Amino acid sequence: MAIHIENEAARCLNCKVPLCQQACPISTPIPHIIQLFKEKNVMEAGQELFENNPMSVVCATVCNHELQCAGHCVLGKKSTPVQFYDIEKYISDSYLDRYKPVAAEKNGKHVAVVGSGPAGLTVAILLAQKGCEVTVFERKHYIGGMLRYGIPDFRLPRTILDRYQKLLGRLGVHVRTATTIGGALKLEDLLRDGYDAIFVGTGAWRPKTLGVHGECGANVQFGISYLENAGNTDLGRTVAIIGMGNVAMDVARTAFRHGAERVMLFSRGQHATASSHEMSYAALDGAEFIFGKQIVAIRPEGPVFRNSVLDENGKVTGCDGEEELVPADSVIIAISQRPKDKLRLSTDHLEGNAKGLMIVDENHMTTVDGVFGAGDVVTGPLTVVHAVQAAKETAAAMLRYMHVE
Ligand SMILES: Cc1cc2nc3c(=O)[nH]c(=O)nc-3n(C[C@H](O)[C@H](O)[C@H](O)COP(=O)(O)OP(=O)(O)OC[C@H]3O[C@@H](n4cnc5c(N)ncnc54)[C@H](O)[C@@H]3O)c2cc1C
Ligand code: SF4
Repeated sequence: MAIHIENEAARCLNCKVPLCQQACPISTPIPHIIQLFKEKNVMEAGQELFENNPMSVVCATVCNHELQCAGHCVLGKKSTPVQFYDIEKYISDSYLDRYKPVAAEKNGKHVAVVGSGPAGLTVAILLAQKGCEVTVFERKHYIGGMLRYGIPDFRLPRTILDRYQKLLGRLGVHVRTATTIGGALKLEDLLRDGYDAIFVGTGAWRPKTLGVHGECGANVQFGISYLENAGNTDLGRTVAIIGMGNVAMDVARTAFRHGAERVMLFSRGQHATASSHEMSYAALDGAEFIFGKQIVAIRPEGPVFRNSVLDENGKVTGCDGEEELVPADSVIIAISQRPKDKLRLSTDHLEGNAKGLMIVDENHMTTVDGVFGAGDVVTGPLTVVHAVQAAKETAAAMLRYMHVE
């Protein structure tokens, strides 16, 4: 690997106007990092990456590079773009365990972070670095959010999250797992107990439903629920997945790794919403893609479809034709998620929009004074790097709110 990434670094033109960096949602200083790497300053490069993006090692692994850095590298116009993400992964992975927090003087501010996905972890790290006393509340038994319970281990090793857990310890961040805010404890309780500011990064964990007959059958599961518990779930030999986004691709690839022999993915329209990268890996694993099928019911024997009717722009307007049963042992619904309502409904004046997304202002503050929010709970399901970028801006706004320099 070292030779490969050294070759990649050597190909970089150190552009004055780096299109790769402009296309990165968190503006990673790509040419400068490559220069540091070429000068063998790996730890300095690691520090710069971590300061810009505390989840750099995760982003290097799971970002959609085709749409971002690599997709915009000037070399890609005529030949192969620089694979910066491989260089970033090496540097950030080498740096993560060697990161030594500079002991910031305590500023007396207490911050509660609700949710330990990439948004919550970013806020916790950045505020602890500034001397705040940070406590993370996480409803699951382990930290990481969708990085641990959604993205499969074969794409993002869980050990990375264990390393983040240790890093939080080095920073003095307290982590209280198996604690749902909005359950026995409410946001108001956190305010009562003297937290000066609260961050909500609870993600989007409520699967969207199809609304068809049979959806409650024993042969049906939601994509994110299956991914969370794939090791304990027997889907049988033939699996039908409804949806063709990135989550659906992860479900397909996971199902193959847990014994499925035939996996079919169905889309209403003529295109998949998954990235071509994820789709090509699912295809390599053996997945079959079937377009233009509208699900109308689910029976114990499998899903039932009719043909989609499309308008001239390719938008699905309805369905027609005979009903067709596709025999399958299991049906997995993977057509996106939205935030759960529990926290919002249990907190006076915490408002969401019609889609259930938390409403925030230009400072990422929710409709409750001192309570901030970012990540999927605000945007709906997006990506790790988008959650981290928003969390970074939110951490800065929280410091301003608490009058911390
Ligand atoms: C299967 C799958 C694959 C994905 N693949 C990619 C990918 O390849 N690349 C990419 O960039 N993005 C990917 N994503 C998207 C990415 O994981 C999310 O955009 C990102 O994790 C959002 O971060 P977050 O911190 O906002 O929320 P989350 O990661 O969802 O974290 C929210 C956390 O809050 C906790 N929580 C929720 N409610 C409460 C409560 N009331 N009290 C306490 N804790 C609570 C949850 O348990 C969770 O730990 C994928 C998502 C899924 C589902
Ligand atoms: S666009 Fe490509 S060649 Fe130019 S600085 Fe970025 S990685 Fe290097």
